[in-house]
Amino acid sequence: MSRGFTLSAMRILDLHQDLLHHFYRHGDDGILHRYPDYGLESFVMAIFPFRGYYESSAVEDPFRFAARSVENIYHIADKYGWRVALRGDEVGERSIIIGLEGGYGLEDASDLGALHRLGLRLLGLVWNRDNLLCASWKSSRDYGLTDFGYEIVKEALGRGMVVDLAHASDRTFFDVLSVFEGGVMVSHTGFRHMNDIERNITLGMLEEIASKDGIVGVAFAKLFLGDVSMERAVREISSIVRDFPDTMAVGSDFFGFGKSLEIPSMGSVVDFPRIYRAFSRHLDEELLERFFWRNAVDFFRRFMG
Ligand SMILES: [Zn+2]
Repeated sequence: MSRGFTLSAMRILDLHQDLLHHFYRHGDDGILHRYPDYGLESFVMAIFPFRGYYESSAVEDPFRFAARSVENIYHIADKYGWRVALRGDEVGERSIIIGLEGGYGLEDASDLGALHRLGLRLLGLVWNRDNLLCASWKSSRDYGLTDFGYEIVKEALGRGMVVDLAHASDRTFFDVLSVFEGGVMVSHTGFRHMNDIERNITLGMLEEIASKDGIVGVAFAKLFLGDVSMERAVREISSIVRDFPDTMAVGSDFFGFGKSLEIPSMGSVVDFPRIYRAFSRHLDEELLERFFWRNAVDFFRRFMG
């Protein structure tokens, strides 16, 4: 059914992409040049301080790796005519927000301060391995947010960074939300009623985020949505978007998972026009715009910088 929308209205802000990791592994293949053709106007470029995916090993010096990666992101942005957004009002066309997927190199609040001054604006507390800040969803003993983690989150929010709870354990999630307001999101996640693993959030956790004016980016892979078809995934997510119209956003995690986890027709950035069109059959124009663009833009305008 047509609701009078055109794909030319398609604008996407993607809350989590591992494009930098893709470049590190395979070289710069120029794909960023084509992003506007896929509707991608803005995205969080994640710095992933590990090698490989699931059989990953830590980089030797995660802090230095993060600092170098920030420099590399500026270089990539310059090369393709994009810009790094440092304040919320700079989030818009062809803008990159620099994110870190796990505070592994942080040993002191001033480490975070230095990365912030370099341009880091989104701090993911943890990836799949526990760190000094908090327990990960993979933790064998969920100790939640540590005192140091508390200090880091406070520092991050005080500096106008946003804090990302993707990959956090349940206890970490609730520890953070019980003490902090504002600027808190889950950048790339699925839902437990679709795939019941702790990596994904419950609808109750989504409600918690919504009550704090945060946002949740849904990721498009089997790990997050279950072994489903694109049609089924889109239908399920659309119903969540209708229930949480101001909270739901996109955090694809593209380039961050292997082929075996791809949902057919929704596994890569080139699929975005197809994904957008599929959602347009379930969401009206306003919801479509909120989900793919506006909620995330509004969030960064409110909390970043
Ligand atoms: Zn991730």
